[in-house]
Amino acid sequence: MNMKEYIDEAEKALLHTYNRYQIVLDRGDGVYLYDLEGRKYLDFVAGIAVFALGYNNKEYNDALKNQIDKLIHTSNYYYNVPAIEAAKRVKRASGMDRVFFTNSGAEAVEGAIKAARKYAYLKDGKTDHEIIAMNHSFHGRTMGALAVTGNPKYREAFEPLIGNVKFADLNDFESVLSKVTDRTCAIIMEPVQGEGGLYPATEEFLRKVRALCDERDILLIFDEIQCGMGRTGYMYAWQRYQIKPDIMTSAKALGCGIPLGAFMMTESVAANSLTSGDHGTTYGGNPLAAAAAEKVLELFEKNHIIEHVREITPYFEQRLEYLAAKHDCILERRGMGFMQGLVFDRPVGEIINRAVEKGLLLINAGTHIIRFVPALIITKENIDDMITILDECIWS
Ligand SMILES: *Cc1c(COP(=O)(O)O)cnc(C)c1O
Repeated sequence: MNMKEYIDEAEKALLHTYNRYQIVLDRGDGVYLYDLEGRKYLDFVAGIAVFALGYNNKEYNDALKNQIDKLIHTSNYYYNVPAIEAAKRVKRASGMDRVFFTNSGAEAVEGAIKAARKYAYLKDGKTDHEIIAMNHSFHGRTMGALAVTGNPKYREAFEPLIGNVKFADLNDFESVLSKVTDRTCAIIMEPVQGEGGLYPATEEFLRKVRALCDERDILLIFDEIQCGMGRTGYMYAWQRYQIKPDIMTSAKALGCGIPLGAFMMTESVAANSLTSGDHGTTYGGNPLAAAAAEKVLELFEKNHIIEHVREITPYFEQRLEYLAAKHDCILERRGMGFMQGLVFDRPVGEIINRAVEKGLLLINAGTHIIRFVPALIITKENIDDMITILDECIWS
């Protein structure tokens, strides 16, 4: 079958929850993807901030192949070495004390919410605790994660979701304070909002929220599913701000393509929240997924990924600023590290479609923002190539 025929088949078989670009991707190498007809695409999406190491990384692939031949899955009722090694590495990278592996980001958020509710329940024996989340946030599509996602359009048709969630504004401490009651058990946010529009939190805001949480014994949850794993030039964004959460989520680049997430917490939260029988997963942290995370974290260190992000970021920002200055329809550049956005005065769908036709993959964040979340191995040349193509796709 050719590409067109495959797409027709897809539209008959798959549930139509995505407006997909009209290409069928077949293989990847480094920062490039190839479609079924052999066309090459420069990829600034990386599976949405997933493939941090680039496609077809030999050491990563070999680690997976070795693990496949050894043991792919076993129940969490037994220990397995990759999960132990991966947990040790995740602890070191995240600065957290305890790790629970999941299969996805949304599940990591679910676990974080459960841990926070259990912590509050153990304190007062009640079950009416509240969570404060941020407007424009994105935490995933399951019912709990959706309940704390600050986009009414995503939530509305599926209500009632889990209750007792209030929304405040990122970087507006007073709005958070005004939502706090004696029932508040957690405040959840992305240190850098991704899907909701590439908004970084300010250090001052995070510092005040941290102090508020300490004062009221409220748990601070950072969702670092997108902004974590080196993307901001730090392993996790909290390290950049030096504001540490009590509970944290990670996913996307953690498995670099193998479905894997995690929620982590400090020892004091772990000792006073989830315990035997409170939470579980059949697949989460199975030997194959854990072997992926173990190798990814090893390669981050060995290949100096974070140093590379820090070195290239000023150039990346400068080139995006250049485009923003050149085209009146671009209102601003916003973001942090290799998590950048260009904000347009119009919907960006048509620009992205043109880019795909010219061999460049980009993704939006909302209707008016082009989001750049490439592999963390991109070079200045890759950035130049991206800018050249994108420039041709923008018309005023
Ligand atoms: C992608 C994302 C999620 C959801 O992760 P899934 O693996 O799609 O469930 C949650 N939070 C943030 C910040 C994300 O970017």
